[in-house]
Amino acid sequence: MKKLVVGNWKMHGSRASNAELIKGLLEADLAATAPRADVAVCPPVVFLADVAEALKGSAIGFGAQDLSVQAQGAYTGEVSGPMLREFGARYAIVGHSERRAYHAESDQIVADKAKAALAHGLTPIVCVGETLAEREADQTEVVVTRQLKAVIDALGDQLARIVVAYEPVWAIGTGKTASPDQAQAVHAMLRAQLKAALPQAAAVPLLYGGSVKPDNARELFAQPDIDGGLIGGASLKAADFAAIARAA
Ligand code: PEP
Repeated sequence: MKKLVVGNWKMHGSRASNAELIKGLLEADLAATAPRADVAVCPPVVFLADVAEALKGSAIGFGAQDLSVQAQGAYTGEVSGPMLREFGARYAIVGHSERRAYHAESDQIVADKAKAALAHGLTPIVCVGETLAEREADQTEVVVTRQLKAVIDALGDQLARIVVAYEPVWAIGTGKTASPDQAQAVHAMLRAQLKAALPQAAAVPLLYGGSVKPDNARELFAQPDIDGGLIGGASLKAADFAAIARAA
């Protein structure tokens, strides 16, 4: 399966620093990796037009870090799928653990967002993952399968059109990476759950996220059920992100 490497810039950057970052990515000439890996970045939504312009004609796609469940209306502060599409976004991350934790997004809201993304021509990158307390209580399987089940139930036969990112919360921004074996075990579980729900969904790309760096990316991406990465901190450095993309 073709790999996918997505950078999540979170709430970082400025117009000037983004221009530098993109310049670095374009100079890294990721076109060479294009046959093996799709590459995309998800900037803060206010920068979408700048990023669209800067990436025009390149092999690098882009997306948003979230979207509204609604298409339009009196929803102050929200940004809808059709708006993101108008700017050329291809992806929308949904259910990132930071949104689940700081914005009280439930499994149902995340599932509704995935559905809204698909309805408006965006590929949702659905994040699932357990906290450290849940892992230590042996609840990893329970938590990630519950999170994914809400999406499975909401999407029905559209399930094969999503991307899933397994992001153990304890590995995000902490410098602690799940070992390739730990990540592979969860990915295999998610793959089986998707396949059982819809046979075609066995081909859903499964990204790993959580302190992926140039020096651990290759081993992670070599696992049979790891189809790429969702990259936070390292996606803010052009050289690191390009190295990770090349590792795919
Ligand atoms: C993320 O937040 O999606 C992420 C994976 O962050 P980091 O790579 O910084 O751990």
